[in-house]
Amino acid sequence: MPSFQRPVRYADVFCMSTCSCGARIPEEAGWCPVCLKTPVDEAALLEELNDSFGKTTWSAPAALLAPSPPPVHSRWQAGPRSFGLRVKLPITFVSVGITVFGVRMFGFVFVAPLIITTTLAMYSIWMRERVR
Ligand SMILES: [Zn+2]
Repeated sequence: MPSFQRPVRYADVFCMSTCSCGARIPEEAGWCPVCLKTPVDEAALLEELNDSFGKTTWSAPAALLAPSPPPVHSRWQAGPRSFGLRVKLPITFVSVGITVFGVRMFGFVFVAPLIITTTLAMYSIWMRERVR
C-alpha cells in the first residue's frame, strides 16, 4: 500500500540563523545585512570554549580538599545547637527550683504538668550534641 508523505516545505529546508542584533540571516551569509557583523560559527566557538576550560590551571585550595575532621559530641561544651555549661546550669537550677518549690507548695498532683515539662526540658538541654 503506497504511503503518502506531504511535500517538504520551504521552511523545513531553508536554514536561517539569528544575528546578535536580532536580524534573521541565511546560514551561508558572510555578514549580517543589518549590522554588518560577521556571524559566529557556533561549533568553532564551542571548541574554543572547551579548549580554554580544559587549559585552566585553577585548583581548589587545600582547605577545601582536606577531609573533614571527625565530629565531636559533648554534653558540657557549647556548640552551634547547644548551650555551654555557663547557661545550662542556671537554666537547670531555675527550672528545677521552680518545680521543687511548686511541689512543696501545692503537692505533686497540681504540679504534675510542670514536672513533665521540666523533665523534658532537662532531657533536651543535657542531651549530647555535636559541638564540632
Ligand atoms: Zn546583525
